[in-house]
Amino acid sequence: MESLKLKSKLLYLLLLVGFGLSVVGLIGYFNIKNIKRHMDTLYYGSLVPLSELASINDAYENDLTITVYRWNNHLISDDDAAQKISNGLEKIQQGWSNYLSYPKRPEEMPYVDYTESQMDLIGGYFTQIRSIMLDPKHSHPISLSTLNENLHSIHETIRQLITYENASARYEHLELMARYENALMQLILFLGVILVLVMGLAWKIFARIEWQQHQLISTTETLKHLNLKLEQASYTDSLTSLYNRRYFNVVYEREFKRALRASKPFVFMMLDIDFFKQYNDTYGHLQGDQALQAVAKTLKATFQRPGDYPFRLGGEEFGIILTDINCKNAHIMGERLRSNIEKLKIEHKGSKILPTLSVSIGGICIVPTALMGDDALIHAADTNLYAAKERGRNQVVFGNKL
Ligand code: GH3
Ligand code: MG
Ligand code: MG
Repeated sequence: MESLKLKSKLLYLLLLVGFGLSVVGLIGYFNIKNIKRHMDTLYYGSLVPLSELASINDAYENDLTITVYRWNNHLISDDDAAQKISNGLEKIQQGWSNYLSYPKRPEEMPYVDYTESQMDLIGGYFTQIRSIMLDPKHSHPISLSTLNENLHSIHETIRQLITYENASARYEHLELMARYENALMQLILFLGVILVLVMGLAWKIFARIEWQQHQLISTTETLKHLNLKLEQASYTDSLTSLYNRRYFNVVYEREFKRALRASKPFVFMMLDIDFFKQYNDTYGHLQGDQALQAVAKTLKATFQRPGDYPFRLGGEEFGIILTDINCKNAHIMGERLRSNIEKLKIEHKGSKILPTLSVSIGGICIVPTALMGDDALIHAADTNLYAAKERGRNQVVFGNKL
């Protein structure tokens, strides 16, 4: 369930990144297209036409006016002059149609129309001069005052158009810069928004992952704890809380091998309550259980060292494994246990040896050898326990040999 949530969050993150990149791409694409359009308008709408207008101006002066002057001063023949006028007019016409082919703003059109009408007038004037040149009866030289006036007027008109185009180019440039700034701001803003959203989502995802990790750690801890409890429960006798028979098997094997390796004495004692059948018969099974608990408590109290392992082997039989102890002290400890239980002074009317509860203990203390069978020490302790019973109970029989 949690991993599903995390998956969908990751999916959102991917979708957000994908969406953000697409939008940024689209914004960039349209802005670049827009800027290109403005650059075209700036270049073809103002800068290129400027050069066309300049060359028209130039043609009026160099091709037409100068030709007329030269013709008037007999520096050029009639035919050549007429030809040059034709060429000049054609050049101007060509330049003008080039100029017209570039994009124009509506507010520019009155200027353009006015210039065209002026050009038509001047064109008519030069056509007239050309026909005079070709007229064999023409008077020569002609007055040039109209020519200068016309030249001045057309220059002025075209200059105005040039001024307008210049202003327009400046305006276009400002517009282009504004668009550029705008596009830049849009991109930065959008990237910022996407970045904040992505970071926010990523933070949430990481927070969730961290939370899940904590959950996992705490669950693992709980499981470990439960496992430990389970293990302890499986090794513990429920009535007396001593280690049980199952754990005895584990410890016996482990400690036997350890003693074998280290050539150290291995101590095992078996304890059996005397006349316990009679105890149950006299006081009932429930009180019998309480007596078992009292014996177990004394066992625990007597053997408290880390290397001491008291067990309830079954029924009213107990076992003790002692490590890190020598045989003499082990014997003393067995005797102390017997004495401690006697000192409990639990009434036992059914006992044939004492008025109180007593135990018999059989023990063995030996340095194990590889030749010994696994159960050899258990048998030895059991035999000694039997001997203790035989010798009158409430005593410890301890041996150092098998
Ligand atoms: P001995 O001195 O020869 O040991 O005589 P005994 O009566 O103790 O003989 P034995 O060891 O054979 O008797 C075992 C008795 O322990 C039988 C049963 O009534 C009693 N017993 C075994 N397990 C339990 C238990 O869990 N609770 C109680 N109350 N009694 C138990
Ligand atoms: Mg018994
Ligand atoms: Mg018994």
